[in-house]
Amino acid sequence: MRRCILSVAIFCLWLSFTLANTDDWSVAKSRHFIVHYKNAPGDFIEQLIEKSEYYYDKIADDLGFRRYDFWLWDNRAKIYLHDDAKAYQAATNQPGWSSGCAIMKEKVIHTFPYAKGFFETTLPHEMGHIIFREFVGFDNQAVPAWLDEGVASYQENIIYSMAHKLIAEAIAADKFIKLENLAKINPQLIKDDVSALLFYAEAVSIIDYLVKEFGKDNFILFCQNLRDKKDLERAISYVYPFRNIQELDRAWQEYLSE
Ligand SMILES: [Zn+2]
Repeated sequence: MRRCILSVAIFCLWLSFTLANTDDWSVAKSRHFIVHYKNAPGDFIEQLIEKSEYYYDKIADDLGFRRYDFWLWDNRAKIYLHDDAKAYQAATNQPGWSSGCAIMKEKVIHTFPYAKGFFETTLPHEMGHIIFREFVGFDNQAVPAWLDEGVASYQENIIYSMAHKLIAEAIAADKFIKLENLAKINPQLIKDDVSALLFYAEAVSIIDYLVKEFGKDNFILFCQNLRDKKDLERAISYVYPFRNIQELDRAWQEYLSE
């Protein structure tokens, strides 16, 4: 889940979908998604499906999960497209700024048409969480928040493109957070937006470092180890040339200073 740190968050494939009725929701289906809607405009539903399939492919590609095509048939993700912000808030109890939310384990996303920042931020972020957690385990306590949020935010163009600059500024201002300390932060409890943004930027940067320097196959292997061993340091040291978090921290900081 993600707090609202940006009030304005910052291939076109024609998808055919089939229509059917269940209860009072109408249903539109694509390869990996089932969209439930009531009175949402058809062109928005098409756009939603197109974007969702785009991010599904992108997330699987970016992180190396491509060979595991797991959101098929009955296992498809469900998106509930409420008629408007009011209906969305009434159904989900989300605050007024919220453009969408997800129930991870059930692979369900709620939103409403034209919600601000949904396509750019909420959709890729929540899908990133779901795909990653489905792989490493929803109840896996060994997954730190920086890893969870780093993977989820990795899909957001805005935070990804800002990360390098934000980190450079933090280093210059002596505000940079070492990985050891980043691991102690619960992003839900961060009070100010500047600190929250830095947390997400650094989390994205570590994922970027691991994927770019050591490749997607190793990242998958790392995730598999984290899933099976449920031990972060063991999963890191099994795959990467670091015996512990401190060594990863040092290597990442050296990479940043290059
Ligand atoms: Zn999140």
